[in-house]
Amino acid sequence: MLDYFRNIKPMKLTAFSTVRLPKIIFGENSHQQLPSLVAAYGPQTLLVTGSASFCATPYWPQLQDALKTTGLQWRNVIIDGEPSPQQVDRIVAQFHQTGIDSVLAIGGGSVLDAAKAIAGLLPHGNSVMDYLEGVGRGLDYKGPAIPFIAVPTTAGTGSEVTMNAVLSVRGHNGFKKSFRHPDLVAEVAVVDPLLLASCPPALIAANGMDAFTQLLESYLSCRANPLTDALAWSGLEAMNQHFFAAWKGGDSVAAQQGRAGIAYGALISGITLAQVGLGSVHGLASPLGAYFPIPHGVVCGTLVAAATEENIHSLHQRQPDSPALEKYAQLGRLLNPGVELTNLQAQEALVTTLHEWTQRLELPKLSHYGVQASDVDNIVANCRGGSMHTNPIVLTDNEIRKIIESQF
Ligand SMILES: [Zn+2]
Repeated sequence: MLDYFRNIKPMKLTAFSTVRLPKIIFGENSHQQLPSLVAAYGPQTLLVTGSASFCATPYWPQLQDALKTTGLQWRNVIIDGEPSPQQVDRIVAQFHQTGIDSVLAIGGGSVLDAAKAIAGLLPHGNSVMDYLEGVGRGLDYKGPAIPFIAVPTTAGTGSEVTMNAVLSVRGHNGFKKSFRHPDLVAEVAVVDPLLLASCPPALIAANGMDAFTQLLESYLSCRANPLTDALAWSGLEAMNQHFFAAWKGGDSVAAQQGRAGIAYGALISGITLAQVGLGSVHGLASPLGAYFPIPHGVVCGTLVAAATEENIHSLHQRQPDSPALEKYAQLGRLLNPGVELTNLQAQEALVTTLHEWTQRLELPKLSHYGVQASDVDNIVANCRGGSMHTNPIVLTDNEIRKIIESQF
């Protein structure tokens, strides 16, 4: 008992503030509440979906019937792949001043991000390039947005609870940037694990690694606080327990619980990233996703082990007293339960386990998408945007280069 108390470290209650969150409705069959939720904002909704995911499920005809019964009218737009500013502008021009009362988005992260930007621009009718960070005209968005209801059908980005819409233009001079404002946060996020049942294993793998990386990076963020730590830890526990059962798929109880677990983990990852930011993996995901056709979750899954290894190594060298090292050790123990590990052993076990996950999920390496040694300088030069600022240590260009080159 004495040992127990001796090992408890005093809780450090740093100052923090929170950013706005939607009303969150989580649980199986929660999608059945959509007609009444939408109706609360008026009779006309703009329904934004992906090209296949949701519309191929039996829930789509059921939802259409329920919307009709509730007396709602809807127009449907489809987002195929990662949205571009031009695509968002086209849709806004089409539906501006057509009496749309709400935007209902049902789909993966790309669908939710596009819909979030559309909802923000519909009342005003101007271009998203007025506001896009870093590449836009730098105007201040003043809101308001049209009420936005977000329904994820993948367990990945957590976009249903964040205030930014990521838009991209692909290619050598491409970019992947955010339209960001508290008014863009959804009014309601409906997270129904049943909607994940049609998600193929490769998508579960990539999206799940995105959610896991977002939880890990916000847990390790230099802005992390006791509130986000508690949330991130709960999400990490859920991902650790349920990720592989969800990935295997099927109708077993374990698979169903698995889908609920990763839906929860992804939701929490969006909450914590919105509060305290991310780290070097997401810093690198921005140029990698802009220049190469790599799905965001694949970038995360491919880099998280090497990035964690590099952070731990640099912290030992330059900031050996950083509380981040203790947190990495906690994560190593979470992923390797039942084994007595020193902090150093637990940190090594964390890196080993993350490498094993990447191999088991058969995530393709960066070179598979055409990333070459000659691209590395350009990637390093463009990775120091938002997410890098909250990495637990400032990495040198050489350290960042090592992370990328480990995945050729
Ligand atoms: Zn992410």
